[in-house]
Amino acid sequence: MRQYIIAGNWKMNMGISDAETLAKELVEKAGTSEGPEMVLCPTYLALAKVAEVIKGSNLKLGAQDAHWEDDGAYTGKVSVSMLKEAGVEYVILGHSEQRSFFGETDETVNKKVKKVLAAGLKAIVCVGETLEQRESGVTESVVKTQVEGAYAGISAEDAKNTVIAYEPVWAIGTGKTASNEQAQEVHAFIRGLMKGLYSEEVAESVRIQYGGSMKPGNAGDLLGQTDIDGGLIGGAALKADDFIGIINAGK
Ligand code: PEP
Repeated sequence: MRQYIIAGNWKMNMGISDAETLAKELVEKAGTSEGPEMVLCPTYLALAKVAEVIKGSNLKLGAQDAHWEDDGAYTGKVSVSMLKEAGVEYVILGHSEQRSFFGETDETVNKKVKKVLAAGLKAIVCVGETLEQRESGVTESVVKTQVEGAYAGISAEDAKNTVIAYEPVWAIGTGKTASNEQAQEVHAFIRGLMKGLYSEEVAESVRIQYGGSMKPGNAGDLLGQTDIDGGLIGGAALKADDFIGIINAGK
């Protein structure tokens, strides 16, 4: 039985003080909540503050990206060891915004996944097709390339420390959600890919989150699908009650 994982990607929202306020509200309202694993992914700058606020609660800390080198002349970047020191347990990698705005490729995702896993942290690997790709019928081949690229050279043991987030790009921040059937179809396809790459055991243990305009109103139905094991939440993670509504839908 896979435990649901609900992660809030706060993106470039919530500076230190707003992040502190939101994290405090979440601790008060859901800090002892049992059920889905809960992860908050604030901006780098707010990681230390959020770590302090959620200490001792059931909420966990995540980051939105990481660099693949240990240290050095990489202006603007943050290393995995720095994230670990800040208390991070999960790192989102390959988000579509990183891919479309900042030149992320399957190769850089793969290097980052390797670094995150080598440090003993867990990777949330994002994949998903654009609207154009869906309409031209290449969703499965796009997702296959992304999954195979991200997992190249990753052992089965390490793969178990990853989560995959299927995020159709056309559903991110648009208010358009994939239907339950559309989402389940791709999730099942991804699980099949993991079985082919590794084994039934790995495929059954890796959690596959859905991301793309998930909200309290649609979370229950999406999470009710056989191969949907949680959500990666953008907009709805910025309001405590909405995020908690999604967590409750997973109980
Ligand atoms: C995301 O960017 O990961 C995401 C799912 O955003 P939203 O929930 O706002 O669509």
